[in-house]
Amino acid sequence: MTNTSVLNTGIRNARNVSRYLYGQGAIVDLAGIIANRRGTSTAPAVFFIDSFFELHGLPQKLDAVAHDDHVIYVDTINEPTTDQINLLKNQLVKVCKETPCAIVGIGGGITMDITKAVSNLLTNGGNAEDYQGWDLVKVPGIFKIAVPTISGTGAESTRTCVMTNPSSGLKLGMNSDFTVYDQIILDPDLTRTVLHNQYFYTGMDAYIHCMESLNGSYRNAIGDAYSDQTIRLCRDVFLGDAMMSDENRAKLMVASYLGGCAIATSYVGVVHPFSAGLSVVLGIHHCVANCIVMRAMEQFYPEGYREFWQMVEYQGVAIPEGICRDLTDEQHDRLYESTVIHQKPLINALGENYKDILTREKAKEIFLKM
Ligand code: NAD
Ligand code: ZN
Repeated sequence: MTNTSVLNTGIRNARNVSRYLYGQGAIVDLAGIIANRRGTSTAPAVFFIDSFFELHGLPQKLDAVAHDDHVIYVDTINEPTTDQINLLKNQLVKVCKETPCAIVGIGGGITMDITKAVSNLLTNGGNAEDYQGWDLVKVPGIFKIAVPTISGTGAESTRTCVMTNPSSGLKLGMNSDFTVYDQIILDPDLTRTVLHNQYFYTGMDAYIHCMESLNGSYRNAIGDAYSDQTIRLCRDVFLGDAMMSDENRAKLMVASYLGGCAIATSYVGVVHPFSAGLSVVLGIHHCVANCIVMRAMEQFYPEGYREFWQMVEYQGVAIPEGICRDLTDEQHDRLYESTVIHQKPLINALGENYKDILTREKAKEIFLKM
């Protein structure tokens, strides 16, 4: 007898990162990977690097950068916008005499997402906003390589790159198989310098993605397996001593990668839509916004809520409070709209009639708890 619930997984034809390297000091192999891509051609490589490293340097000298390559430092004051991506693409079209042989993102979610988006735009043409949505990218981008320097978002392993269109306010990525990285290099030495609170906020993105997925209704065995293991690793890191020890930074890098694989085959829930509201209306960055939203999540995720605050306390992390207390009615309206627009995760968490549960008044009550 066949078990239809096992066969009928609801998983689309999923695509994973093609290759990965993992280990302390693994970034030294970047030079060889780029040299292989370049072959005998004179095609340049492009490097997007988090501006933190412009000031402080990388732990190893980047031998991968050759004479005609382009290095662009990315500031992380704001999260990516479509205008910014268009500008970077146009700039590269002007300076690159040949199509680049590879495009490399060294940094956190912001830098990795910019790298993905510019890679796709360089070969597909047009503007970033043309590709916000599902499966709109037509041809593969430039060969893309990610080297994460902070762990948690899973941007290194997902099929999206999040960006906001400032004219429409739409915060949506290029969800496409072509957005998945061709190569990633996971080197836990690179996360040594992350600040204590930031390390926690970003790390918690992995925990929250998976906690939401496991509590949703669109479940499948593969997504669950990735999520279970991600949560296990996060518990080791955040309920153990020295969350930033060599061992724990290495574990969190794996949790981030697996958490990204988990959301590629499942959905998030209530936290992410509320967090997106905070980002769009108040400009709060994604990972700290998630943590702020957790202040109001006891009613939806009692277990996750308890464990999250246990981790916060254990690590002595500061989570901002009271950020929605003095907002106008107009701001609350915009918060509501930019939350309920996220249908898929809200249906996953609350069902088709989620707007009956999340009324305007209810949403305001939730925001006021933050
Ligand atoms: P980030 O890129 O926002 O960086 C956070 C801060 O950490 C910055 O100040 C940065 O300079 C600093 N930093 C990074 N590495 C450092 C290091 N080694 N030492 C010292 N400082 C360092 O980081 P994030 O939290 O990973 O990314 C958030 C972004 O990721 C948001 O834009 C969000 O929308 C996006 N995101 C994308 C996906 C996806 O699937 N593509 C998923 C979740 C979130
Ligand atoms: Zn997230």
